[in-house]
Amino acid sequence: MDLFDTHCHFDAADDIAAILERARAAGLVGLVAVGGDDAANAGARLAARLAPGFAFPALGLDWSCASAPDADDAAQLAAAEVGVSPASAQSAIAAGEIGLDYSHGPTAAEKAAQRALFARQVAAAAEAGLPCSVHSREAEEDTLAILRECVSPTLAAEGRAGSLHCFVGPASFAERLLPLGFSFGLSGILTFRNADSLRAAVPAIPRERLLLETDSPYLAPVPMRGRKCEPAFVAHTVRVLGKILGIEPDEAASITTENAMRLFCPKARR
Ligand SMILES: [Zn+2]
Repeated sequence: MDLFDTHCHFDAADDIAAILERARAAGLVGLVAVGGDDAANAGARLAARLAPGFAFPALGLDWSCASAPDADDAAQLAAAEVGVSPASAQSAIAAGEIGLDYSHGPTAAEKAAQRALFARQVAAAAEAGLPCSVHSREAEEDTLAILRECVSPTLAAEGRAGSLHCFVGPASFAERLLPLGFSFGLSGILTFRNADSLRAAVPAIPRERLLLETDSPYLAPVPMRGRKCEPAFVAHTVRVLGKILGIEPDEAASITTENAMRLFCPKARR
């Protein structure tokens, strides 16, 4: 089975080499090591250095960095890094994770800072011709507005503008993101007992826009709940996706892996 984890995080304090080894043993052929702040960006670079051609780094600043005093300098650096031409294995293959999170009750000023940081990085990715790994929580309308304004029309037309990571529905959100060239990352939440509404939304998404992810170290799928999540666990999520689509897990794995390679590593495509 060929699996691909399109969104996972590494901490430099982890035994990254061992996690990558277990991922390969579980059938993964690649993964996107996703940044979001200084520590996560460092973890993503480290994973890419340990496993070139297998761990592909996405770099960026997420919503939690938006109100930091040095957010502007940091955003400039992150944007510059995403813009670097992909000459080495450690160059960013995407901007991520970036996005908006209004679930913690941010003030109007904090929301505005989140939007500015997000828009800037989507624009940098568009300029570099790279996709984005986007986080959006309780911020559908603002996410859509920024993507409509900043996504590269070429990438949108090619269906390569990015992934909405950790998609939880509703189907109507997916339908509005499809014309912007977005795919949808299905995490371990797909396996949760209380996720019927997500499982019901999945068939509305065209198969060529479905991706698997773990968002590790968070969101371990059933039956690994309570464990620290890692990319190898995507092997559990694919079984549930197969069931939803009425196909074998093998086929669900090939479809989502093809989609992931087309989106995140078109040059490495086998
Ligand atoms: Zn994440």
